[in-house]
Amino acid sequence: MLVGIGFDIHEHSENSELYLAGLKLEGVGFKAHSDGDIILHALCDALLGSVGKKDIGYYFPSNLKTPENISSLKILEKVLSVIEYPSLKINNITADKAPRVARKVLISLPDKTEKITMIPINQTKIIITWI
Ligand SMILES: [Zn+2]
Repeated sequence: MLVGIGFDIHEHSENSELYLAGLKLEGVGFKAHSDGDIILHALCDALLGSVGKKDIGYYFPSNLKTPENISSLKILEKVLSVIEYPSLKINNITADKAPRVARKVLISLPDKTEKITMIPINQTKIIITWI
């Protein structure tokens, strides 16, 4: 069994739209070179780390080599190719986020995740714990 842990943090920005888990939500977004989706960034780092690859900053550096405002879903697509998914079977994903957005993400995440990442949802358990 392989285990990966991802963590991401960005400064809030009143000028940025809020994206979490690939969803555009109401609220203040995060300052970032990409769309600042902290859940997908943490997921990408967890996936990369689980197979011993370098972190997200290696594949998507915050400079001119990475398109500005790139969707984190594009980043996730690249990461899935790097880890050679679906040769790996993901059993469980747990994401922690602040209570004020967790309910919206919890309601919306499974279908969106299956659509975007092609992870069979019956093999993927999404848990958002309240912190
Ligand atoms: Zn990030």
